[in-house]
Amino acid sequence: MLHADDHTQANDALLPTMSCRRSFAAPQVREIYLVGALFVLTLVALLAPALPASAWHMPHFVDTRTWLGLPNAGDVLSNLSFLAMGIWGLARLRGRRDAPVGASWFFAGLILTCAGSSFYHLDPDAPQRLVADRIGMAMAFAGFLGIATSERISVRAGQAVVVLMMVAGLLAAWVARENLTPWVVVQFGGMAVAVGLALTRPRPGALGVPLGGVIFFYVLAKLFELGDVTVFEATGHIVSGHTLKHLAAALAAWPVIRTLRPTGSAPSHH
Ligand SMILES: [Zn+2]
Repeated sequence: MLHADDHTQANDALLPTMSCRRSFAAPQVREIYLVGALFVLTLVALLAPALPASAWHMPHFVDTRTWLGLPNAGDVLSNLSFLAMGIWGLARLRGRRDAPVGASWFFAGLILTCAGSSFYHLDPDAPQRLVADRIGMAMAFAGFLGIATSERISVRAGQAVVVLMMVAGLLAAWVARENLTPWVVVQFGGMAVAVGLALTRPRPGALGVPLGGVIFFYVLAKLFELGDVTVFEATGHIVSGHTLKHLAAALAAWPVIRTLRPTGSAPSHH
């Protein structure tokens, strides 16, 4: 009897690790899926028909009001939210060794986005300024995908994704002056990968960054972008949809920053 009880206890003690391992498919298997997905996206970016940038009409943002001599003040000044979130995030990273791979790239990318997007919105009719806008976004995006991958697959996969997405994003931003296809693939293909990762369980030892929260604010930002005029009219010309787009996109950093709260008052995981 004693033996039987001992076995039961030993089994109970083993069960959590066993079930944990089983629910988290072997990292190598997830890495293979990831490589497959990135390979398909690369093929699409290279082989899909070109979308000529000239065929894409330059957006005309509805709120062009000047404030204190600053043209397009709402769309320019709302970029300060990227700066604030970037600095806040980098401050949170100091002294933390367990931060996910890509976090520093993500926050530095937000600061760069503030610079690039402000530069663009000061004169949005100059198409070459779009490159500056996209470089910051590409860096923040690479950082986010690195975080998502290192949280859900493995640290080494996260490192590889940061480098790959940095290179792909910069190249795509440059090529987008003439052909938008690679940029569209980086943006929407990358987000599709992030959604796929968000649907899987965190790997053992992950911090538990709520990827769904980041994606929620990203989608919200896209909706505000589409509703530039609608929001402007609905709010009695107080704020435009594009201005709110910047604020929503900056808020996408909040779920990451929240996870990086100083260890002492770490939230309980459930
Ligand atoms: Zn913008």
